[in-house]
Amino acid sequence: MSIQDNLEQIRKNIGVAFAKRKAKHLLMPADVKLLAVTKNQDVTSIQEAIRQGITAIGENRVQEAHQKYQQLTNIEWHLIGHLQTNKVKQALQIFDLIHSVDSERLSVEINRIAENMNKLQDVLIQVNVAGEESKYGITPQEVIPLAKLISNLANVRLCGLMTIAPYYEDVEQVRPICKEMYRLFRELREYGLPRTRIEWLSMGMTNDYSVAIEEGANIVRIGTGIFGKREYK
Ligand SMILES: *Cc1c(COP(=O)(O)O)cnc(C)c1O
Repeated sequence: MSIQDNLEQIRKNIGVAFAKRKAKHLLMPADVKLLAVTKNQDVTSIQEAIRQGITAIGENRVQEAHQKYQQLTNIEWHLIGHLQTNKVKQALQIFDLIHSVDSERLSVEINRIAENMNKLQDVLIQVNVAGEESKYGITPQEVIPLAKLISNLANVRLCGLMTIAPYYEDVEQVRPICKEMYRLFRELREYGLPRTRIEWLSMGMTNDYSVAIEEGANIVRIGTGIFGKREYK
């Protein structure tokens, strides 16, 4: 299957899932944004995806994004991998949205660097809803406290939540996790913190994006489904 065929299929599936959820989640502000996850993909493949209408890409590593940055123009850059405090400066040079904020320390460092750069950095808080040890992210209980802290940082704007759900053979098992994320998202929105713009719920990958959208996701992050299986060089 070509990238073009894959994207066509994915867009169809997104449309079906979006129609299913529309009735129950009226508050979601935007259509679904399809984020092409381009880690380990070469520039040629990414350019092909852009020709086929991709407008936003997600990278896991700051270093890898920097290597591709000059060759890919007019697209949104999203950081979806863990961010170390010593990489914040490099990250802020590139990324429009950082999905992976998971601590007070990191938030404060982003604010410090953003202030120096005279940038307002958009971020999401990463939540580890399932409490998996292997994954980054804060607990659901920690979301509001961290959001409050971020809302006091002049150069960081909180825009929503992100999660990486566990992988299940049976994709239905992911549904309760997506529901919990949507509940948290709503709570955060309704909290009405100043200087935030809570509009993005980033969840859903190749194996589970339909369920995620049905339950309220409006950014899905898809790699394998677009480019095929990743080759690790
Ligand atoms: C790699 C990755 C994805 C994409 O995974 P696929 O299964 O290839 O779609 C999405 N989100 C994050 C955070 C990732 O690291």
